[in-house]
Amino acid sequence: MKHYGLWINGNWVDTENTMAVTNPATGEVIATVAEGGIQQAQDAIDAASRAFRAWSAMPAPDRARILRNVADRIRARAQGLAEILTTEQGKPLREAKAEILMSADYFEWNSEEAKRIYGETIPASVPNKRLWAIRQPVGVVAAITPWNFPASMIARKVSPALAAGCTVVIKPAETTPLSALEMGQIFEQAGMPSGVVNIIAGPPEPIAEAFLTNPAVRKLSFTGSTEVGQLLMRRAAQDLKKLSLELGGHAPFIVMDDADLELAVAGVVASKFRNAGQTCICANRLYVQHAIYEEFSQRLARRVRDLKVGTGFDPSVDIGPMIDNSAVEKVERQVRDAVARGGRVITGGQRVVIPNAGSGWFYAPTLVADITHDALVAQEETFGPLLGLWEYQTDEEVMQWANDTPYGLAAYFYGRDLGRVVRMYESLQYGIIGVNDPVPTVVQAPFGGVKHSGFGREGGHQGLDDYLEWKFVSIGL
Ligand code: NAD
Repeated sequence: MKHYGLWINGNWVDTENTMAVTNPATGEVIATVAEGGIQQAQDAIDAASRAFRAWSAMPAPDRARILRNVADRIRARAQGLAEILTTEQGKPLREAKAEILMSADYFEWNSEEAKRIYGETIPASVPNKRLWAIRQPVGVVAAITPWNFPASMIARKVSPALAAGCTVVIKPAETTPLSALEMGQIFEQAGMPSGVVNIIAGPPEPIAEAFLTNPAVRKLSFTGSTEVGQLLMRRAAQDLKKLSLELGGHAPFIVMDDADLELAVAGVVASKFRNAGQTCICANRLYVQHAIYEEFSQRLARRVRDLKVGTGFDPSVDIGPMIDNSAVEKVERQVRDAVARGGRVITGGQRVVIPNAGSGWFYAPTLVADITHDALVAQEETFGPLLGLWEYQTDEEVMQWANDTPYGLAAYFYGRDLGRVVRMYESLQYGIIGVNDPVPTVVQAPFGGVKHSGFGREGGHQGLDDYLEWKFVSIGL
């Protein structure tokens, strides 16, 4: 069985304790990983601090070449990396491959952006002064990432940070550290100088403690649940660390009566059931307008019943396992709660046992209709293959329902009338809007939320802003 060390200061470091990584489709242990703690996190921060000076001073085209090299190496190893991702996380292999290739795209995009970090000249009010605003990297960045996209969440943080001239310490999710540590090998082969990137797997609290208390860390970039994001923000206030928080979502998906129904059915399936519904931007609440409700829900139910659940290595499978038992239990709780409030299960609603797959965590794709608005599925993020369905009458009514949540990450709607489309996207209180588009994430656009979904943006030229600071220079002549 393969064993992974931690990647600190350009070395693979072992520790006294090890953690087992399991395959969620089978329950089997697939690898062991050295367990890092506060000491390894401090060592990594020290290494990143030492490396910062040379890395931030390196001419941008040279930094860009190394980032581009990382992208090329990820692409060259895409199949093997995707297999590791599917083994530790469960998603179907084609989804894993798409995630790996998108990770490469982030490195390529940011290798190009590294060369375009421009400042400003500012007209002075007197003849004997010259004014400039320049942009400089914030310093050492700590990154904490979740298990649902173990490769691309790292790429989305590390590539803009490095492009900006920052150095980084990464803490991947404890359930999926292998994709992260494989990236360490790629950084090593791509010519990344020692200490510029460091990867520490282990239990979150001690590692986060080092990130929050070490004054060398100037920025914390976190993707994960709203609860942990709030906790980190409270703690980061002590040292006024810069923060980016990419947190939970609770996306509404609205189908208007002039929508193309076939496209909208396919859109719901793509948005909801990708990664077994364990996606921060996936649809949680489906609102369908009265005139098309019956026909739409029947077409959707037929499509959802046809989705195949199974292990990620079976090419005919649409939906892999969930990450663990507690994730399945959360879906079960929401289904029970919806039914107790008068909800009707249209399809699904139970666990699935896959023959010869061991003790994996599978749940059937599920649609529940006739639900009250105070049901759990209407109130909290599901993070699983369950979709609540409601019938609405007017655009005004559905806008209110859609915005009636503390979350504000992604929202979707399908419709064709230009006036209604514009009014709808202007009114939705979300950071990302998909209009007739169920998968809006791309490397060249800013991704992030509002309200309890956090702040900061990843992707696009805006993705670098969070890793840069303005410095104003006033020169008397
Ligand atoms: P989580 O908050 O439990 O864990 C995320 C990361 O935080 C992991 O690395 C974990 O080890 C770490 N962590 C946990 N407790 C911590 C603590 N006390 N101190 C410091 N770090 C701690 O979330 P999760 O279950 O891994 O991921 C699912 C959540 O992530 C969902 O809410 C999902 O919506 C969100 N998410 C958001 C985005 C986005 O871009 N907005 C993207 C993916 C996932």
